[in-house]
Amino acid sequence: MNSSDITNKKSYFSFLMEPLDLGFTILKNRTIMGSMHTGLEESWNGFYKLARFYEERAKGGVALIITGGISPTFSGRLSLFSSQLSASFQIARHRKLVSAVHAYDTRMCLQILHAGRYAYHPFAVAPSAIKSPISPFAPKALTGKQIKNLIKAYANTALLAKRAGYDGVEVMGSEGYLINQFTCQNTNQRNDEWGGSFENRIRFSLEIIRAIRHVAGEAFIIIYRLSMLDLHKEGSDWSEIEFHAKQIEKAGATLINTGIGWHEVRIPTIASVVPEAAFTWVTKKLKQNIAIPLITSNRINSPELAESCLQNGHADLVSMARPFLADSHFVKKAMNNQSQLINKCIACNQGCLDRVFKQQRATCMVNPRAAYECEYPLTKTESSKTIVIVGLGVAGLSCAYYAAKRGHRVIAYDAANLGGQFNLAAEIPGKEIYHETVRYYEAQLSLLNVDVRRNQKVVVEDLLDNYADAIVIATGVSPRIPDIPGIDHISVMNYETAIKNKLAIKDKVAIIGAGGIGFDVAEMLIVNDKKNAGEDEWYDFWGIDKQYRNRGGLLNDNVNHEARRTVYLLQRKDEKPGKNLARTTGWIRRLTLRKAGVKMLSNLRYEKIDDFGLHIVHHGKNETLAVDHIIVCAGQQSESSLYNQLHDIGYPVHVIGGAKKAAELDAETAIREGMELAYRF
Ligand code: NAP
Repeated sequence: MNSSDITNKKSYFSFLMEPLDLGFTILKNRTIMGSMHTGLEESWNGFYKLARFYEERAKGGVALIITGGISPTFSGRLSLFSSQLSASFQIARHRKLVSAVHAYDTRMCLQILHAGRYAYHPFAVAPSAIKSPISPFAPKALTGKQIKNLIKAYANTALLAKRAGYDGVEVMGSEGYLINQFTCQNTNQRNDEWGGSFENRIRFSLEIIRAIRHVAGEAFIIIYRLSMLDLHKEGSDWSEIEFHAKQIEKAGATLINTGIGWHEVRIPTIASVVPEAAFTWVTKKLKQNIAIPLITSNRINSPELAESCLQNGHADLVSMARPFLADSHFVKKAMNNQSQLINKCIACNQGCLDRVFKQQRATCMVNPRAAYECEYPLTKTESSKTIVIVGLGVAGLSCAYYAAKRGHRVIAYDAANLGGQFNLAAEIPGKEIYHETVRYYEAQLSLLNVDVRRNQKVVVEDLLDNYADAIVIATGVSPRIPDIPGIDHISVMNYETAIKNKLAIKDKVAIIGAGGIGFDVAEMLIVNDKKNAGEDEWYDFWGIDKQYRNRGGLLNDNVNHEARRTVYLLQRKDEKPGKNLARTTGWIRRLTLRKAGVKMLSNLRYEKIDDFGLHIVHHGKNETLAVDHIIVCAGQQSESSLYNQLHDIGYPVHVIGGAKKAAELDAETAIREGMELAYRF
């Protein structure tokens, strides 16, 4: 089949024949909002809210939206209460989504996802009864008859999706879910027609595509999400991937989407440490031999990056998921040449995936309205007020933005420049992108005519002299100084000083405190200083082979990681350092430090600091860490004195972010608090 056959057959994709054109005009037709579970799928009145969520993204210009994963059967649900589409009565709620999206020039596909052994309940099924390392539930092996029934269930779900008005479905065949469990030998040890040879192991995926095509007809879009890089030793090799892709094409799929890595594999694929567009090379590799259009994804978060993937022939379409949480109008802004006004996804996972794992509704750290469009509509206030905000870290920036957006007059002060703790975070390797959030808010405040007064340290008298309907104190935090004898020693510095002077730090360092900032500082210290080492070193560090010589796309085991410095990361508690870091990124951070030889010690007491170094008692034994520097990352305290003074004299004052609560405050809470307060004015 050549590409003109495809475009004749699948009229939705006729745009693929259009010449590529700089200036983001092509993004309109080639941008897909990838599948994301929000939690609204299972909540009360959730489909109404989900419709508003998708509607805003359709209005924002995206060409095609793929829903979160919906199971074709009970056993395939991710958890007991996850969504399923298998009966006619469930169609009505899906119609709400489709009609909201079809009101704009946007298509919509339902993702069919069977969790297989990743199902977090006792009814899990899989090709073989082999438990996954990330679920406590051992699956039951499917019988041959159950497999045939499952194929029918996929087709049934696709047909119901068609009746609900969806333009097509995406069949989730990657990331280690059921279909992917069939394709790989470690999870498929069957000796019937569904196991053994690779041809047998991919039979399940191909039968599903054929069954869907059969019931849904020629014009229905079938996207197959193919695992291009399993990233484990018993994953597919390149010839198998290519063979599978060709068979998928023959079986009748319209498009192939790129899937990277299995969820159980300890190699990051979407976190902010992953280089931008890190996996588009693998889509390009497949593109040479496949005629149907290919979609690429993972860590693409700007129109420029998306456009360059298309221009460089890495893929025919670009899928982005989290970037559409961060900014619903990504495509429209790109097409209007307003790229600088896009709220960029910073790949932190804090508002989206981390919340989903805590059974909370997904949203976005940098855009807390995401999936809360009903609760926080974009309406103007009926009575405009004057709001004064002191402190323009992310809590203050968010409050200023939403207050001004709602039509209030906003005057905002900062003792320095904008961004607060985000400016420090952006100095950490892998978090440089945090600058983008500050840049975005700065651009928006300027557009909304917020009166921003930089480098002005405000005292109570300044505030009392000017009229305000409300004053918001968002003055943040200051580092805590622990009470250790010798804490004034010349070798001691706080994390702010260390981050700002990172190039002056010598080879042996002890870090007091193993919270989020202790980990940040340790990561900063282990980065190899070699110029331009960046991206290739990243693939080596995580064992990924861009030559694809082995199964799973992995390098052989013997890559040595040269330790840049001797680093001790210390905490008093008797628990695993980093235990409380975020669920979806904490493991990456712990593993990074372990691989780089950082010595993480817990269950210790600090005795004193002197010219010999840091003296500790570790597991009851005295030890001296002979280090050049001791960096204090022992948490923070609130900078709330302005609030206390104004509150005491009865002023209409509010406090948000770190100034309200320093302990365990995270940026996601700070930005959300800023928005929530702005909606109360
Ligand atoms: P933190 O997470 O509260 O950690 C503070 C560390 O200092 C702990 O390891 C604590 O462990 C130690 N400590 C506390 N009091 C001490 C004392 N008096 N003497 C010596 N050690 C002491 O604070 P943080 O690292 O400053 O982070 C602040 C917030 O920013 C966190 O809530 C975090 O969520 C957020 N953050 C997140 C990220 C991220 O990547 N998601 C990155 C940076 C920051 P012991 O008491 O056991 O010694």
